[in-house]
Parts: sequence; C-alpha cells; structure tokens
Amino acid sequence: MQGLAGQVALVTGGTSGIGKATVVALAKAGAHVVLTGRREAEGQKVAEEARAAGRSHGVKIVFVQGDVTDEAHIKQAVETAKGLTGKLKFAFNNAGVELGGVATTENTVENYRKVFDTNVLGVFLSLKHQIPALISSGGGSIVNTSSVAGSIAMPGASVYVASKHAVIGLTKSAALEVAKNNVRINTISPAAIDTDMLTRFTGNRDPGAIAWLTGLHPIGRLGKVEEIAQPVLFLLSDDASYITGTDLPVDGGLMAQ
Ligand code: NAP
Repeated sequence: MQGLAGQVALVTGGTSGIGKATVVALAKAGAHVVLTGRREAEGQKVAEEARAAGRSHGVKIVFVQGDVTDEAHIKQAVETAKGLTGKLKFAFNNAGVELGGVATTENTVENYRKVFDTNVLGVFLSLKHQIPALISSGGGSIVNTSSVAGSIAMPGASVYVASKHAVIGLTKSAALEVAKNNVRINTISPAAIDTDMLTRFTGNRDPGAIAWLTGLHPIGRLGKVEEIAQPVLFLLSDDASYITGTDLPVDGGLMAQ
C-alpha cells in the first residue's frame, strides 16, 4: 500500500489482538511505529516482534506504557511518535474494552464510566492531540476502532453499543473539521474477531457462545486479526486518499442481513 514506508504511525491498544496485528503489519510495510497499552511486558514483546517484521526496512518501534484515559500519557505518546522522524503521519486509535451480558436496568455507573472513559474519552483525547501533529506534518490519516455495535443494537450490551456509536459520531465530526487540512479520519467496524476480547466475551470460549456468534456471520466463521489489520492499513495509506468521515464494516456480511 502506498505512502506507509518510512512514515510514523501511532497505535493505541497495540499490546494484543487487532492492535498487535496492525503494529506488525505496519512494520512489515516499512512504517515506524509507536504502540501503547497498559501492559509493559506484552508491549515490549509486540515491539520486538514488529522490529523483526520490519527489519529489512530498518523500522523504529517504540512502546509507550500508559492508559488512554490519561491525557498526559496521550500527549507523551504523540510527542514520542513525533520524535522518531519529526513527523507523525498516521494513528490507529484502537484501545477498547468490552461489556456484554448486562441488561440496561442491571448496569452500573462504574461500568458506564469504565467503558465510556476507555472507548470514547480515549479516542477523543487521541484525536485532540494527534490532529495538530498531523496538520503540522502536512497531513495524514487516522483510523478509530468502532464495531458493528457502532451501527446496530445488541441487547445486553447497551453501554458498549452506545460507546461504539459515539466513536463513529466523534470520527465523522472531527473528519469534517479537518477535511481541508489533508487529514482523513475514518472508523473501522469489526464484527466478531478472534482475540482475547472475544475469549472474555464468550465466557472463556464457551462452545455454545462461540457457535452462536459464528452463526451471526453469513461468511460462516469468526474473523482473524489480520483481516482487520489489512483494511486499517488501506484506510491509513494513500490508496484511500478520497475516503474520509466514513465507517468501514469488516464483518463477514453481518450487517448486510
Ligand atoms: P484485546 O486483545 O483485548 O485488545 C484491547 C487493547 O486495548 C489491548 O491492547 C489493551 O491493552 C488496550 N486497552 C484496553 N483498555 C485500555 C486503556 N484503558 N488504556 C490503554 N489501552 C487499553 O481485544 P481486541 O479484540 O483486539 O480489541 C481491539 C479493539 O477492537 C477494541 O476497541 C474493541 O472494542 C474492538 N472490537 C473488537 C471486536 C472483536 O470481536 N474482537 C469486535 C469489534 C470491535 P492493555 O490491556 O495492555 O492496556
């Protein structure tokens, strides 16, 4: 994909799952990457794997430990990314937490705050500090992770669903604010992708829950992390130069039903 090699990308929630696969794919494509997450050991391991994947390009990979709900951490990650070459060009705001199996009437303020702080405040703070950095780099591209839950309802997951709808609203509005600054901002919306989050969501891979989830997808299987990473790279790259303010579902046909 065009325009990635030699440029700097920042990935939040890069310590596992979709974020990890995207960090490795970016490195393989020749991009320098700053990845973030709360887990130090996992972050360092992903950084090592990405360095190996991008060795032939001589990529620089740096892990910055922290929480996306902490504005000082977000600023530090952006400054670290700018420091790699002087220009931050790409960001993938992917950190998120799930919450399912709780009826609205049974839910709590604590759950609401945890989900909205990570999934919405985290993306808002990231956009707030990344956009000026991209503008001063002459432009760039941002992808935020929403979900099919950002467009459809899921009984028992109203707070998560609301948070992912909010990510789409934030993205579209911010995209219009900077459309003339050569900054593109889009969301990617995965359906069920086989990650640690899915393991937790299905009660440690309860066979009944996995079968039910699989059956929701016309394609007849769960998605793989690489099947999200590649569309993310496309949206970041110059190949998507006329795409902004939109959502790309990557869902095995789920939302076509
Ligand atoms: P995952 O393996 O659990 O990854 C979640 C990532 O978010 C981890 O890197 C985690 O890192 C990070 N994170 C969570 N809370 C954080 C916080 N407060 N501060 C910083 N980082 C935080 O699950 P995944 O499936 O790859 O999820 C990635 C994204 O995809 C999420 O936004 C999720 O909502 C979305 N998504 C997933 C699916 C799916 O089926 N898997 C479907 C639709 C959307 P640390 O734990 O190290 O902090």
